Amino acid sequence: MLAAESAFSMLQEGLKMENYWDNLRSSWIWEELYTARNYRPAFEYGLYPGLALSAVEHYILKGRSPVTLNHGKPDHEATREAQLFSPIEYPKPDGVVSFDVPTSLYRSNTNHDHDQPSHLHLKDPTVPENVNLPKYAGPEARYCPARVYEYIPDETGDLKLQINAQNCLHCKVILFCVPGSILS
Ligand code: SF4
Repeated sequence: MLAAESAFSMLQEGLKMENYWDNLRSSWIWEELYTARNYRPAFEYGLYPGLALSAVEHYILKGRSPVTLNHGKPDHEATREAQLFSPIEYPKPDGVVSFDVPTSLYRSNTNHDHDQPSHLHLKDPTVPENVNLPKYAGPEARYCPARVYEYIPDETGDLKLQINAQNCLHCKVILFCVPGSILS
């Protein structure tokens, strides 16, 4: 909402997108984010130190800590190669408490015009097939809850990334698997 309002005022008044940061800093969201800023980085020190530090932050300091802990590294650097892991077999949707993607998309009530230009663009179109799929088993096909990113075989049988932008729920997962990968 803040981003949309900032973009709208930018278009109307010719202002810069820095408005977004000013609006964000003066909103209740910033206050909440600032209060919780050390929860996740505390776990860089391990599970139990992380639990202890987070508890101190939450119950005693309540965001007034004089320090801001560092995450250590960007998320994309924490993504490790698929060969180090075993695939996880998830149970199929039972239609009672879990549902398939088409049903969930329908229930989300998110609509796009069928001829709407795609808002999802690859910074480097070669990254999915050259890096993401062979090295990381195509994480974009897993993290997106709406199956926007799908690897499907082309006429020669090679898997190619297809972007189903019309499915996007705008959940703002935003994940850069590797630099220059996907902006969603
Ligand atoms: S914002 Fe990104 S992850 Fe979320 S539904 Fe849209 S494409 Fe998928």
